[in-house]
Amino acid sequence: MASAPPNLVFIMSDDHAAHALSCYGSRINQTPHLDRIAEGGMRFDAAFCTNSICAPSRAAILTGTYNHVNGVTTLDTPLDNTLWTFPAELRAHGWQTAIFGKWHLGHGANADPSGFDTWRVLPGQGHYHNPVFLDHERGIDERGGYVTDLITDDCLDWLDERDQSRPFALFCHHKAPHRTWEPDEKHFTMYEDEEIPFPDTFRDDLVGRAEVVQAVRMRMMDLDPITDLKATVPPGLTLDEEIDWRYQRYIKDYLRVVASIDDNVGRLLDWLDDAGLADNTIVVYTSDQGFFLGDHGWFDKRLMYEESLAMPLMIRHPERVTAGTTSDDIVVNVDFGPTLLDLMGVDVPSHVQGRSFAPILDGGRPDDWPESMYYRYWMHNDGAHAVPAHYGVRTRTHKLICYYNDPLGQPGAQEPANPVEWELFDLVADPMEVDNIHGKPDTEAITLELRAELDRLQAAVGDVPHPDVE
Ligand code: CA
Repeated sequence: MASAPPNLVFIMSDDHAAHALSCYGSRINQTPHLDRIAEGGMRFDAAFCTNSICAPSRAAILTGTYNHVNGVTTLDTPLDNTLWTFPAELRAHGWQTAIFGKWHLGHGANADPSGFDTWRVLPGQGHYHNPVFLDHERGIDERGGYVTDLITDDCLDWLDERDQSRPFALFCHHKAPHRTWEPDEKHFTMYEDEEIPFPDTFRDDLVGRAEVVQAVRMRMMDLDPITDLKATVPPGLTLDEEIDWRYQRYIKDYLRVVASIDDNVGRLLDWLDDAGLADNTIVVYTSDQGFFLGDHGWFDKRLMYEESLAMPLMIRHPERVTAGTTSDDIVVNVDFGPTLLDLMGVDVPSHVQGRSFAPILDGGRPDDWPESMYYRYWMHNDGAHAVPAHYGVRTRTHKLICYYNDPLGQPGAQEPANPVEWELFDLVADPMEVDNIHGKPDTEAITLELRAELDRLQAAVGDVPHPDVE
């Protein structure tokens, strides 16, 4: 351990899929500054969210608990700001703490950010251009500019003005690259004359998948031409040509807003270098979940498929973590808080459900480290994306998903034709998840094994099965 307690710079973006980072082997863009974090530390190749949607994943990260425990099961559920969070724990142990950017866990006396000395956050989703910010003194900031630059400006100003006699924990939460993907002037024409490669599963016909998965409204044709694509569909295109055109419009804007994140992360990393603080500062880069980048023909997230489930996660701490290392151990978002507390020498309270993976960062691996993870998406058929509620288990080799099609809470929702549907994927033979083998010959043994593991994990985290699932 270093003599001085480490600082923390926790950078989280919104909907940044791992396969849009060059350190994860992106085929569609370069992220040189984000790659600096991976090159200087450890990249996690099996980091997963426990619920692939904004507010619930943020609540899981801050509280170290699953959504049925912290209560934030949907996008619209505020986080009770009297709950324990790891930033508040750091503050109680002497760190100066601040959060800038996206909060998205509610507003008002019971839901404003707590555990931070200073905050300035976007109301709700916020805007890309000339966003309004709210701050801890009930002030409203309207200085104007581009959201990713402004959030970084706030971070740098706070770092400059901090108390240099105490360690700091800074939370830089970018709005980008959340829908509706509005680039800044600097990146507006990036990729203009290029064709971005299409993902391998772009033309996935979804045959054999659960009926409710085939019915989700996250296809290229579900993108809004005006708000999402900012263009008029050219006349005379065939359906396939229009789908291709929509992908190019969508993905280029997505990658342009990612490019701004990359530039701005570079500014933060440069600041640490110039201040001589890089060695003793833990830098984390993650996103609240993944995203479909045309994979399976989709945009958005929510489903337990890999592109949505996987979170980018890179952790740099030169005093402790060996540069340029990777881990394929399964870690989940509820583990982030306890891990950081552990690295910073602060005890983790026993109610926290996540587990510290600091031993993995130290180059080891506890013998009893989990070989599986539990997932649950609660927001059944939200109206816009029509994604069904589901839960499931992912191991190193397989994934079992149960769509229990809960119509509860959806006004006017019809009883589904199939109350419960299952999907089973062999991730070794079928890493793209295009072959649902549930119910196929010779899958009985693995299905039983995964079903038992799902039941075990569900009970272990204190969740209960849906009553329709036998
Ligand atoms: Ca998100």
